Amino acid sequence: MASPFTSLSCVVRHDNARVLSWTMKPGVDYPANFILRVENSRAGGPWELLADNVQDYCCYVDNRRRNYNKRLNECYRLRMILPDSNEEFVSDIVDAGNHKAYPYSADAENILKNIEAAIKVSGCTGRLLKKRIWGVRCPLCTDFANQATVNEHCPRCLGTGIDGGYFPGIDLDIIKDQIQVSESPSELGYLQGETVQARCIAYPWVSKGDVWVEDITNNRYVIAAATPSSSYKQTHLVYTLQMHKVELADVLHTNPANNLVAMKTGTWEDGKLPPELPDDTNPNRRPNAWDDVLSGL
Ligand SMILES: [Zn+2]
Repeated sequence: MASPFTSLSCVVRHDNARVLSWTMKPGVDYPANFILRVENSRAGGPWELLADNVQDYCCYVDNRRRNYNKRLNECYRLRMILPDSNEEFVSDIVDAGNHKAYPYSADAENILKNIEAAIKVSGCTGRLLKKRIWGVRCPLCTDFANQATVNEHCPRCLGTGIDGGYFPGIDLDIIKDQIQVSESPSELGYLQGETVQARCIAYPWVSKGDVWVEDITNNRYVIAAATPSSSYKQTHLVYTLQMHKVELADVLHTNPANNLVAMKTGTWEDGKLPPELPDDTNPNRRPNAWDDVLSGL
């Protein structure tokens, strides 16, 4: 197996926490027991284990308290361990840097404050399930002869072909701008389709294929497009989303998907070791989503 890592990035957040996020190669046959770790080193220091068993996550928030030099530079990298073959892979090193922290642009802050206020007044709360594009192939429905997914209704991978299907839910509130309802005849009678155009703050990062779950109605929507509608320099501030409502009979309404929704907030905000499920009373729940965007400017 070749190195599975494709990207690792780090932004420094307003409270000086470091948000790491990564992608790995899709289409690779990852062994079921692979281990993924986050390692950390202060400038010039030795590498130390920061978090173990992050294989079921696509990000990690390092929010350890820094009582010493808050602008101290640090580096991060990922390590993948394959216990069966004793192979190990190390990602590129990412430098947390110290140039990205405050101060930031007042214009960008205003854009984000405005949409946050709009969401507060007339928005909808919900969760984002990020689709897995890498990981262990689903043992239930993968055709191992040609490595293709054979069941789009699979209860184990929810049709994604990757075991688990989606990462645990992350809080994401949106404001709906347009709702289009259409009806079309089918063998089961008239089916109602719903397409929603919405806006949200561009954090966490939303991709085509992710699923958004509305709190109040428990409706589920597949993201068909996430287009940046407002940016500052290279940083996206606001997304316009196009999303399609999922039918009740869909596998995204079954218990494996419900469990992912219930796990909410994943570890985007949680500096604890990922295997501990975050609880609802987590005091670290983000106060302002836009702080996270701004910290990347
Ligand atoms: Zn499957």
